[in-house]
This record gives sequence, structure tokens and C-alpha cells, in this order.
Amino acid sequence: MGRLVLLQIGFFSALLLVGTFPGYAGSVSQYPSVAIDVGHTRAHPGAMSARGTSEFVFNQAFAQQLRDAFGARGQRVRIINEHGGLKNLRERSQYADGAAFLISVHHDSVQPHYLEKWTYNGSERRFSDRYSGFSLFVSRLNPHVAASLRCASAIGQSLQARGFSFTKHHAEPIAGEGREWADAENGVYYYDELIVLKTAAQPALLFEAGIIVNRVEELELLDADRQRKMADAIADAMRVCMQNGK
Ligand SMILES: [Zn+2]
Repeated sequence: MGRLVLLQIGFFSALLLVGTFPGYAGSVSQYPSVAIDVGHTRAHPGAMSARGTSEFVFNQAFAQQLRDAFGARGQRVRIINEHGGLKNLRERSQYADGAAFLISVHHDSVQPHYLEKWTYNGSERRFSDRYSGFSLFVSRLNPHVAASLRCASAIGQSLQARGFSFTKHHAEPIAGEGREWADAENGVYYYDELIVLKTAAQPALLFEAGIIVNRVEELELLDADRQRKMADAIADAMRVCMQNGK
């Protein structure tokens, strides 16, 4: 199939989305976009991987894959904090203003007491191979919790259908977290106080792609083909989920 035909299909499926999600109807110029938030910043880059790469670098790479996956499906996207220069957390939801959905991209670590030491490339690093897998978070303080959860569940289901599994460690009291499941079948937890989720005006979720302190999963998460497969699973799920939105 030619590129032009694909673009046309994308355009018409884009038109189908108009008016099917809260607050958006009418012209193509109002066609809703998905905001992709790159978690953390260059100054405060989040967790450190088992081999010494900061979480921000992982988040940036995956956000780009996600943008491409949405784009290939005719879904408009905007990336927030693409270069890691944001100064405060509330700016993220401000930049998402007008978007139909907000996805905040992160990579996971574990509680500090699980971290062990090893030496990689002559440097002492911290790792834990105890847990692996993606996870999803929604906030009950977000004004669209039902729509947030519906899409989070759809993403978890889509990822599992493509062979990915989620981590259960956020629900284990022994890990010092004990988060409540929002959807235990699909890897979705409640995390009410997450600022980016609770201050968002639109449905929102936080996605942890995997655990970068796990020495095996870290390498998997750096694999571009695997990143694409994961991004495709999310974009497919979001397309259906947003079409079904009230
Ligand atoms: Zn993070």
C-alpha cells in the first residue's frame, strides 16, 4: 500500500475521532491530540539504571517511539518536556492544555533496600534483578478518572497480548509501597497524589515501561525494536479507547 493511501487512511480515522472524546467536536483544527510527557528533566533525571544511564534518557527515547507510533496511525501528538528543560511539575499539565489525553512516560526502579552493588565498566553501580515489567498508574483526583482507567486497562491488555508482562511489586506491602490495584488484571495501580495526573484537565495516566535497575530488563528496554513493539501496543489501545470514549 502506498504512503499516500496510508496517510489518507490516517486522516479519515482521525476524522472519526472528532467528537468522540470529552470536550472535542467539530472541525479538524479541533481534532484532539495526545500529549506525551517525558518524565523528569536533565537537571533531575530520575532513577539510575543498572549500567549508569539516567531514567530521563530512557523516557526521551521511548516518548519518541510513542510519537512515531501515534503518528503512523494518524493521531496528532505533542511532546511535553522533549529536551528535559521544564522547571516544575505543574508546567507539564499546563502544556497539556487542550489535549484529549495525557500520557506521562517513565521508567521504574525498586525500593532502595532491594538495591545491590556490582561493578560495570569499572564503576560501582546499583541494581536489583528481583522485579521486572511495565506498570500503569491513574489518579482518582483526576477529573476524568473513569476515562483514564479505561485507557490504562486497554493499554495493559494490549501489552500483555503482545507478550509483555507487568510488575506486581507496587502492590506488595513488603516492597514499602502497597499501592491499591485499579485493575489487577492489566497492571494498573492507583496513585492519587501524582501531580502530573491530578493536575491534568484531561484523562491522564503514567506509564512505567519497565525496571531499569534490572540488569536484563535494562538491555531489553534499550532495544529499539522492542520499544517500537511496546509503542505500537499503546497506540493501538489508545485509538480504540479514545474512539469508545463518551
Ligand atoms: Zn520516573
